[in-house]
Amino acid sequence: MIVTIDRMGCVSCGACWNICPELFDQNHCDSFSEIIEEYRYSGNLAEGVIPDTLCSSAEEAAFLCPVNIIRICL
Ligand code: SF4
Repeated sequence: MIVTIDRMGCVSCGACWNICPELFDQNHCDSFSEIIEEYRYSGNLAEGVIPDTLCSSAEEAAFLCPVNIIRICL
């Protein structure tokens, strides 16, 4: 599964990196959510490949994002 974050819309609430810290983290420069380096696609902060073990928590993070900017697709 692929995850993308529309980072410019992030309000840094922390929900995603608290729910799924293996996949999401807070960027130290702009404070927005980013994909953990290990799972980034082509080094992109905003796009990653989700390992099977993290799919359910990634989906929960997407569901709870208050501004609905985390997208998950096959
Ligand atoms: S849950 Fe959404 S708004 Fe909150 S930090 Fe994550 S991406 Fe940003």
